[in-house]
Amino acid sequence: MDNSVEVRSGVAERLAALIRIPTVSAEAETHAEAFASFPAVLRNLYPLVHERLDRRVVDDTGLLFRWRGASDAAPLVLMAHWDVVPASPWPSGDPFDGRIERRAGDEWVVGRGALDDKGPLVVVLEAVENLLAAEFTPAHDVIIALGGNEEVMGSNARAMSALLQEELAGRQPYMVLDEGGAVTDDVLDFVQGRCAMIGLAEKGVATVRLEVEGTGGHASAPKHDEPIPRLVGALQNIERNPLPARLTETVQAMLAALRPVSTSAAARLLGIAGRTGPLVAAALAKAGGESAALVRTTVAPTRLNSGSADNVLAEHAAATLNCRIMPGSSVRETLRALRRRIRDDGVRLTLIEGHEPSPESPLDDRFEAIGAALEDSWPTAAAVPYLMMAASDARHFHTWCTHVYRFAPLLMTLEQRESIHGEEEAVAVDSLVRGERFFRALIRNRADERED
Ligand SMILES: [Zn+2]
Repeated sequence: MDNSVEVRSGVAERLAALIRIPTVSAEAETHAEAFASFPAVLRNLYPLVHERLDRRVVDDTGLLFRWRGASDAAPLVLMAHWDVVPASPWPSGDPFDGRIERRAGDEWVVGRGALDDKGPLVVVLEAVENLLAAEFTPAHDVIIALGGNEEVMGSNARAMSALLQEELAGRQPYMVLDEGGAVTDDVLDFVQGRCAMIGLAEKGVATVRLEVEGTGGHASAPKHDEPIPRLVGALQNIERNPLPARLTETVQAMLAALRPVSTSAAARLLGIAGRTGPLVAAALAKAGGESAALVRTTVAPTRLNSGSADNVLAEHAAATLNCRIMPGSSVRETLRALRRRIRDDGVRLTLIEGHEPSPESPLDDRFEAIGAALEDSWPTAAAVPYLMMAASDARHFHTWCTHVYRFAPLLMTLEQRESIHGEEEAVAVDSLVRGERFFRALIRNRADERED
């Protein structure tokens, strides 16, 4: 396909140039110069995108592009973010030197943001720039929404979503595609093979504080209901009674799609998922870790604070819980479940921050369109529906858009996935080449469809 399109070389250099701009949103004041220069550098690297698309700056650092299509068919919305998380430690030196190096027969671009999310951002812009150079006009509008504060749960995506909702005046986008899943090998313990994990839904989040007050006093005469043992009791009750496990439609579809690439014993288990969902949910829950997180709301204690001296009774004890909420449940239901497990009125619960889990996007022709775009870019990867554990900017769209998917068409091995927000983040140039091809196909395929 795309014989008419000449693909520009130098994608690695362009990504490296963007990595060299330290757009660390958690330290935005220190890096004010980086935030000021990034849009200008982007303009130099993607001249046609900036010449021919309408471009607006929304909410200071949101960059919203609109490529006018040949018809008023529902627009395709492509999202990415250009801020990154801080990078320390970084054993090989400077996380922002945008190094290109040779490893195992391929070139790699190394640096903070290579995968999250400047790599995915670059492949979107590469595809559009190449199509523009070939004088291609999409059948429908293509909207590119680039947030500059995703990593600090920022407001850019929310503002861009609100603006688009208003401008579309009740019409739905064809599809919203943001970061989330990726192309990956051996994604779960029982899977062997390459899969494109396409997020249909994302879990919600509740950050909850548990607090117990006491009267303090000398440690030589403790009472029976001191804050520390009461708080520990509450935490133990939560730990011993995990929230119920259940198969959602997304996870059920994921297991069905994984069946062909599953190792034999597990495949038998997946084969019966339809009839015995609870059994499969229980098995995944028992496996713990990522498998368990697919089937239940998880509760992780992340902070513990109490006490002022070795020989003084604590007047106050507090713990923070980070809960990741299953689609179909809610922040309220999670709080209720915690209260039921704590069984102690002396433990005060406060919701620090919460947002609801997303609905589950349909497995219809839009999902198939993503699969079709993979045929040219990642022909050996099976398209697998997936439940995302982390929160993405896409959560600002699922409140009004039915078709929201979370997927970046780059290969991310387990080691690479751990490097996101970690050390030595890097992307293979081969992945970038394939990623560009994916977006070019996604934009073009719908035009082809309409020509038929
Ligand atoms: Zn990200």
